[in-house]
Amino acid sequence: MDTAERVRRIKPSPSTAAAQRVRELKSQGFTILDLTVGEPDFDTPGHVKAAAIEAIEAGETKYTPVNGTPRLRSAIAGKLRERHGLECADAQIAVGGGAKQVIFLALMATLDEGDEVIVPAPYWVSYPDMVRANDGTPVVVDCPEADGFKLTPERLGAAITERTRWVVLNTPGNPTGSAYTTGELHALAQVLLDHPRVSVLTDEIYDEIWYRDEDAPSLAAVEPRLAERVFLTNGVSKTYAMTGWRIGYGVGPKDLVTAINTLQSQTSSCPSSVSQAAAAAALTGPQDFVRETVRVYRARRDATVKLINDIPGLSCTVPDGGFYLLVNCQDSMGQFTPSGSRIQNDEDFARYLLDSRQVAVIHGAAYGAPGYFRISFATSTDVLTEACARLATACADLT
Ligand code: PLP
Repeated sequence: MDTAERVRRIKPSPSTAAAQRVRELKSQGFTILDLTVGEPDFDTPGHVKAAAIEAIEAGETKYTPVNGTPRLRSAIAGKLRERHGLECADAQIAVGGGAKQVIFLALMATLDEGDEVIVPAPYWVSYPDMVRANDGTPVVVDCPEADGFKLTPERLGAAITERTRWVVLNTPGNPTGSAYTTGELHALAQVLLDHPRVSVLTDEIYDEIWYRDEDAPSLAAVEPRLAERVFLTNGVSKTYAMTGWRIGYGVGPKDLVTAINTLQSQTSSCPSSVSQAAAAAALTGPQDFVRETVRVYRARRDATVKLINDIPGLSCTVPDGGFYLLVNCQDSMGQFTPSGSRIQNDEDFARYLLDSRQVAVIHGAAYGAPGYFRISFATSTDVLTEACARLATACADLT
């Protein structure tokens, strides 16, 4: 069957495609050290599962309001109040099947053909294609490693045009782990205050997987004058190891949330009732799981950063949050593998790692970061240690 133009404009997510490739290789009997994983390697906490079972037994198995159950909305409002001192009305909260769906609907609700969305690179793979699928034009702004992979006020100012509708700020970011400080958000806000037509989509899905002392700051709280045009998105997938439950949310201007709810009402009607009960329990229940998993992630982060930086030819910066490292492999470009093929780019490098060492990573160009590759430390220390040992021999074999 012929597909619509909007589908032909986009491609399947490279991380999903990488996961699929790893599954195929495993099913063929290969043992792969998989560093592509974009989700926690922990199980959902017991009390969250128990809340879901309770909800099922209590008959919470029907459609819910389009914008989520009152219990979940209140849990979301509570989190924003506690964490950032932000007050939000019920009508400002949209709940969807993951932050991904909420972001997609926000773009669908606001973009007309030719509208531009500023996407700082390195970026989460889905933003540019979500913009394209909704008739917009992604304007990718390179944010080099020397700038901490972060958008500067100068680069932001230079990228804004008459057609700019949104700026996406993912903090802490995937794939870099970089997060904006309060001062940096404040400086970006000063530019945005001069451009009242430009809205900001903050993607804060990794805000709790966080390694600095002070809490991760949020633009809406840092500059209240922008509150009317910040759409803050988040979810339970990463923090509570709930990727399969598919609950995310967005908080922002009422008219935007109303539009999202209208789209939601004509697409999925509402997110899963049972998952909403689980998400409410995750947000309001004990947070020891988060503290414990962050402690484990931090130990892995520190060990892996050191192992990578000890490998001649590779380097990485220390992430502030999330569970990814973006590794610089520019020194390997132009070198030859033992079988005589030339590494022309990061995709060749990732393929070389997979074929010669059975280490699966995602090449940086997928994130708008050529010359890099992403590894996830949401996997065991044993796997990370062995993978780094193989990375070292793979690099040493290049000539
Ligand atoms: N935003 C970023 C930056 C992500 O990395 C991901 C998941 O990989 C998401 C959003 C999607 O999260 P959810 O599972 O809530 O759809």
